[in-house]
Amino acid sequence: MAKTVNHLGDDEIAVLKESSLLVGRTLAEVAKVIAPGVTTGELDRLAEEFIRDNKAVPGFKGLYGCPSTLLISVNEQVVHGLPGDRVLREGDVASVDCGVLMNELYGDSAYTFTIGEVDEEVKKLLRVTRECLDRGIAAAVEGNRTGDIGHAVQEHAESNGYGVVRELVGHGLGRKLHEAPEVPNYGRRGQGVRLRSGMVLAIEPMINMGVKEVKQMSDGWTIVTRDGKPSAHFEHNVAVRPGKAEVLSTFSYIEDVLRAKGEWMVPTEAVDHKVERNG
Ligand code: MG
Ligand code: MG
Repeated sequence: MAKTVNHLGDDEIAVLKESSLLVGRTLAEVAKVIAPGVTTGELDRLAEEFIRDNKAVPGFKGLYGCPSTLLISVNEQVVHGLPGDRVLREGDVASVDCGVLMNELYGDSAYTFTIGEVDEEVKKLLRVTRECLDRGIAAAVEGNRTGDIGHAVQEHAESNGYGVVRELVGHGLGRKLHEAPEVPNYGRRGQGVRLRSGMVLAIEPMINMGVKEVKQMSDGWTIVTRDGKPSAHFEHNVAVRPGKAEVLSTFSYIEDVLRAKGEWMVPTEAVDHKVERNG
């Protein structure tokens, strides 16, 4: 990862937020059509079209050789699933990760969707993973360290009996998709990189229902749980501030769609971060 010191001015953060919000709107387009019978490739195509229609560029495509706009990870797939011919089935969960590059700044957010009726124990995994995200965000304040974020995530996940993925971490965000510092989903209070106001972070718990261990598939991309149990992933972009992080991305566009479709959606224990939307 780049050693760039991640620190943006308020004007740059306002511009980055537009990228983050476009990711949220793109994931809402996915929410409109995601259902049993839909292929992950169809979702990828509509996301790319939507991003380009909004005069932005898919943030992942071409980076590190990534062939797609979305990374869609189904059930035991943790992250980095490549879209293609796979048909989503009733009872699946699909983590959809999306990046956007607009005005030279990246947005990067992910949401785990339920496909039709999903087992209660899987819904609980999604709920707890989202709570982990909220707790991580609550720790992303000036003067804390990255270990405080990781500790908050890890403690909540493990107290629910879940495994915290070690090999993949959150990150700084800005003119590059991945900047310093790394933001692990595990850690010790008071350790790691000190957080300063204006640092922009992508906080993204990847939580497994079973063991924490993962492996990479032969496609060189897809990460799966070693025990084959499901995994969930939620990601927000935040600016570190004194007292309370400023959340730059939002799930509210997604939730408007899911509510209109009458779909179950993962609840959040926090008031959803009051992000001002641009439409
Ligand atoms: Mg992401
Ligand atoms: Mg990320």
